[in-house]
Amino acid sequence: MRRLLQTTIAGSLPKPAWLAEPLALWAPWKLEGDALALAKRDAVRLVLFDQEHAGIDIVTDGEQTRRHFVTTFIEGLDGVDFANRKTVRIRNRYDADVPMVVGPVARRHPIYVDDAKFVVGETRRPVKYTLPGPMTMVDTLYDGHYKSREKLALVFAEILNEEARAIADAGVATVQFDEPAFNVYFDEVRDWGVAALERAAKGLSCTTAVHICYGYGIKANNDWKKTLGDQWRQYEQTFPLLAKSSIGQVSLECANSHVPLELIGLLAGKDVLVGAIDVATDRIETPEDVAATIRAALAYVPAERLFPCTNCGMVPLAREVARGKLSALAAGAALVRRELSPAG
Ligand code: ZN
Repeated sequence: MRRLLQTTIAGSLPKPAWLAEPLALWAPWKLEGDALALAKRDAVRLVLFDQEHAGIDIVTDGEQTRRHFVTTFIEGLDGVDFANRKTVRIRNRYDADVPMVVGPVARRHPIYVDDAKFVVGETRRPVKYTLPGPMTMVDTLYDGHYKSREKLALVFAEILNEEARAIADAGVATVQFDEPAFNVYFDEVRDWGVAALERAAKGLSCTTAVHICYGYGIKANNDWKKTLGDQWRQYEQTFPLLAKSSIGQVSLECANSHVPLELIGLLAGKDVLVGAIDVATDRIETPEDVAATIRAALAYVPAERLFPCTNCGMVPLAREVARGKLSALAAGAALVRRELSPAG
């Protein structure tokens, strides 16, 4: 029987200081050319070591090969001008310099497929590979061509599907689409967001997942969270739609959060990646903290479908903090696993 409560992370981990400036989002690379390509691979090996050493079951490349979880992918496409960036408001919360769509977008070549092959070849554990979701891509650029978020999202979904199929064929166990925008634009999620996500995940030979969160622990997100009230019920609108969708797994925020855990019950039939690590604080959880979150979630999702995870990416954290959190996640899951099957 498959081991219960397999641990995984949302996706990203901090980069070494020789690769990019620490404690920063979207930090520029410190190297270039062949030296940069080799350094990225060394960084992938390090984050694999850290995850395996901590006892994480389903590992990622820590997104060591990308500067930004959305724009690095977009920059690999035709039809996008990333030299002339525009400042736009992202997720209705903060301004960022983003690429501009100037013509029909197309994927002329694989973008992360070699990186996916590399990480699969460096570990014996199952690998999860993350891609941006179509709605979040649309929300992280300036569109000077399509003039329709829905139209552009569907074009991106087809492009993502080509890329995801090739990544699945490289041997990854799970392809995850990151859709933080699903927590902001509820009408669009209903009208075309879930359909675009399903198009991106169509026909994949591996497990499919979607990650929906309240963002990294940066100031703009923390300020936004203060406006959301005592109970964060955003998931209440999207989970019933996802429960009916073809997506296999949903990754959500639970630790230290105002999300009422009963909302997990809306995902009946899906695997649930329960965020049991708060990425918005440097405080390292104890294994007992993690276990308490998992036990609370078990009231709403069967153990066979529960995967302890982080709330979101850990890229802006210090490396020693992230390593501590990885260990706490694995140790907390182990505590609950022993309670569920004392003999095992
Ligand atoms: Zn996230």
